[in-house]
Amino acid sequence: MKKWERILFGGDYNPNQWPREIWKEDMRLFKKAGINSATVNVFSWAKLQPSEEIYDFSELDAIIEMLSRENYDIVLATSTAALPAWMVKRYPEVARTDFNGIHHKFGERHNACPNSPIYQKYSRALAGKLAERYGNNSHISCWHVNNEYGGICYCENCEKAFRVWLRKKYKTLEALNKAWNTEFWGHTIYDWDEIVVPNALGDGFGDDKTAFAGLSIDYCRFNSDSILENFKAERDAIREFDKETPITTNLMGTYKQLDYFKWAKEMDVVSWDNYPANDTLWSLTAMRNDLMRGLKGKPFMLMEQTPSQQNWKPYNSLKRPGQMRAQSYQTLAHGSNTIQFFQLRRSIGGCEKFHGAVIAHAGTENTRVFRETAQLGKELQLLSPYVLKTVNQAQVGVLFDWENYWAIEYTSGPHKDLRYVDQIHSYYEYFYDRNISVDMIPADADFSRYKIIAAPLLYMVREGMAPALEKFVREGGILLTGFMSGIVDQSDNVHLGGYPGPLRKLAGVWVEEIDALAPDQANTIVFEDGCESSCGMLCDIMHLEGAQCLARYGSDFYKDTPAVTKNKYGKGYVYYIGTVPEKSGLYRILDQAVSEASVEAPFRDSLLEITCRKSEKEELWFLINFRPEPQPLPECFAGKEDLLSGKTVLIGDTLSQYEVRIIRSPL
Ligand SMILES: [Zn+2]
Repeated sequence: MKKWERILFGGDYNPNQWPREIWKEDMRLFKKAGINSATVNVFSWAKLQPSEEIYDFSELDAIIEMLSRENYDIVLATSTAALPAWMVKRYPEVARTDFNGIHHKFGERHNACPNSPIYQKYSRALAGKLAERYGNNSHISCWHVNNEYGGICYCENCEKAFRVWLRKKYKTLEALNKAWNTEFWGHTIYDWDEIVVPNALGDGFGDDKTAFAGLSIDYCRFNSDSILENFKAERDAIREFDKETPITTNLMGTYKQLDYFKWAKEMDVVSWDNYPANDTLWSLTAMRNDLMRGLKGKPFMLMEQTPSQQNWKPYNSLKRPGQMRAQSYQTLAHGSNTIQFFQLRRSIGGCEKFHGAVIAHAGTENTRVFRETAQLGKELQLLSPYVLKTVNQAQVGVLFDWENYWAIEYTSGPHKDLRYVDQIHSYYEYFYDRNISVDMIPADADFSRYKIIAAPLLYMVREGMAPALEKFVREGGILLTGFMSGIVDQSDNVHLGGYPGPLRKLAGVWVEEIDALAPDQANTIVFEDGCESSCGMLCDIMHLEGAQCLARYGSDFYKDTPAVTKNKYGKGYVYYIGTVPEKSGLYRILDQAVSEASVEAPFRDSLLEITCRKSEKEELWFLINFRPEPQPLPECFAGKEDLLSGKTVLIGDTLSQYEVRIIRSPL
């Protein structure tokens, strides 16, 4: 597989939207900004294939020829994420049917039905033709299939394909009826053709609820698999002509509808688009970066970020001076090997004309955004040889599981505000604040690499998951879990015999009831030393079955019953946190677990973000201040060289907001 020798720095480039004299100016400006890479051909299907019979690559030939001549690393997209108008007119089946059952006409993008045989035929054909034409060009550094895959189709083709998918999974209708518990509301299915898709015309209701979670979760699995088949078909078409260029598609962090762990197994390299809003916590952006690294356990590509502002959020703040640079270094720190923007030149029309770009509508290099981009470009040239040799390592794994994400958010009760990503993030945030590196891991990860596994909200425990966690703890690991865990199986049917079902023995507790607190209600947890912390949302009412009580509820009819427990199991421990404590309470519990597990946390008290990438020979420490107040550099870095400034770090040095140091330290 081809390897890149430099940090790719560039982004989406759409010369097809501009006259040729502008292309020449682009080349001059890109060089000036240190840009070495361009992602092209993301939305050009209508131009490449103006009718069913005709293909026309003349403009793309000219673009590729120009970029090759100028020695750019080209990220070549396949253009299949927006349908040509003629195709929708001639074959209406290529468009999607939405949740409300409305079949769409031509319009927007990300609009193809994954199970349309026509879409499958022509998307695969286009990818193959592109690979045949450009696959032997050594400047093509990466294939970018489609763009931001996602969404759900509920059309008749999908319905038919869903039935085939279900037959393969369940074999018999008896098994399917049992899995979906169809005796409830008299939904027994007697013929495969009676199965309908779970949108608003069927069992779906509201924004994201369902009468039958077993059915709807299967539809999520099926939809993710269907779209993945589209990716694989284009990938395989490319591979017929190009055996060695990495193939990716740009993912979207914690995007809900696609099981990215399953997807990543089919991708050569993970890439993603990072668009924090003006109020997104830096810890959440860090978590998403770690999740993208975790998908393959390898460095990833930052395929898109904006150099200044977005256009599609409610409030599209500018990135403040230094903020884009700090965000870029955070991305590298958490495992990216590229920094790419959407986009290089700002469009004149369409709904993204207010989306930021390296070259603004003014068209010159005399802008703040251009100067900041150029500074970063220069720095990345210097850093390339150091960064590309290193990888991230962690002693803590935080479990992220798309099927749990779907399942927990389909549940009707006990609490409408329970959001999967928020809850996972509340644990991640603790480790982030303590500057403890985290790997975001799937349910089938090798747990033995970690001292701590955090698995909050492990609502769906599928076959094999409990034994793997038991083994991890028995051999000395520390497991963090809690409320709404161990409740259901893979079909959303409850594990009978008392919560947390298959985790009951491991946690040493029996949860008898789950109380839900409205946003204006609260309880407290009282630790053994009398310290109190507020708690809310959900309160497990539980009995100790071997576990030790760390904190009890402070009020209500379950006052003095256990709220937080710790159970010895084999050589390890399980912490069970039965409610949502306020931050200080949660941090107190997690501090105890971290110290018990002897997890290294040398910078736990620093308010900088401190992250390490390592090679066999050296460590690269990324120190970033995301806070408004200046923060001191830890003294242990004094005397070492900052790669960015070339200066030696001194005792008493501070970083102001968005300032960055990258410190090299031999091992
Ligand atoms: Zn469809």
